[in-house]
Amino acid sequence: MKKIYGLLGETLSYSISDSIHEIIMKENNISGIYNMFEVKKENLEKGLEGFKAIGVRGVNVTIPYKQEVMKYLDDISQEAKEIGAVNTIVFDEGKPYGHNTDYFGFKMNLQKANIEIRNKSFVILGSGGAAKAVIKCLKDFNARDIVITARNKEKAQDFFKDLEVIAYENLKDIKSNYCIINTTPCGTYPDVESSVVGEDVVSMFENTVDLIYNPKETKFLSYGKKHEINHINGLYMLVGQAIKAQEIWNNIKIDESSAERIYKQVEKLI
Ligand code: NAP
Repeated sequence: MKKIYGLLGETLSYSISDSIHEIIMKENNISGIYNMFEVKKENLEKGLEGFKAIGVRGVNVTIPYKQEVMKYLDDISQEAKEIGAVNTIVFDEGKPYGHNTDYFGFKMNLQKANIEIRNKSFVILGSGGAAKAVIKCLKDFNARDIVITARNKEKAQDFFKDLEVIAYENLKDIKSNYCIINTTPCGTYPDVESSVVGEDVVSMFENTVDLIYNPKETKFLSYGKKHEINHINGLYMLVGQAIKAQEIWNNIKIDESSAERIYKQVEKLI
């Protein structure tokens, strides 16, 4: 029987995760089906019970459940605990275990763009769930310094106690200029004309990363392109986190050359 996988979220019409997983499963001879599971907030617990009852093997978790889902899980991986968010669940003999594969996808995204971490300095725009995975990865791979920019400085500082948190208006005074990363949703559909920072800020950096992949080139990335700065969107991260989820669900290792092939096919979907 085909194994059942899927995406758990509230509104999923925008998602291309089903197509990505179909490509990964085909590439790796995995027999399974990947469904979209739109679940209303008040039905989250029942939804998880339903997955157990019908023998779902694994789900990805997206907005707005990456944090809320944690209280319903039997165990959570160390990195997901430290990040404070779960984006992948595997059901082992009916028991749900949480992981965070955004962390791995982000690492792959930087590798794809030849962006180093060790001893480099990073400015992160936003302090939500994705920022937490990004920051954990940068810390684990020994970034020299990480500065967070947040609308609500107090809230961000409360979570990231050991890091510097600044307001958007102070970005112009920043001294570290290796890489700037947008982890806010500003610039994604339908708000494609917005960018969380202006061209003046982006042009101060050597590398520009946007976690958004839809559109391929956000306003933020277009500033990087205009100033001939190394720039990359979040599509490789999306593919990377999906590959890592399949590895977890199927206890396999998918090699990097396969990741590149999968990415090339996914690129055509956007
Ligand atoms: P989230 O938890 O809701 O966090 C969003 C963050 O952006 C919060 O810090 C929020 O600040 C900030 N923000 C929102 N609107 C803003 C605005 N107009 N100006 C300044 N800051 C703003 O969402 P998330 O899960 O981190 O996702 C963020 C983005 O990353 C989404 O576009 C998502 O699609 C993308 N993402 C991509 C991948 C990938 O694989 N490529 C993976 C994960 C996420 P407040 O706290 O002040 O509200």
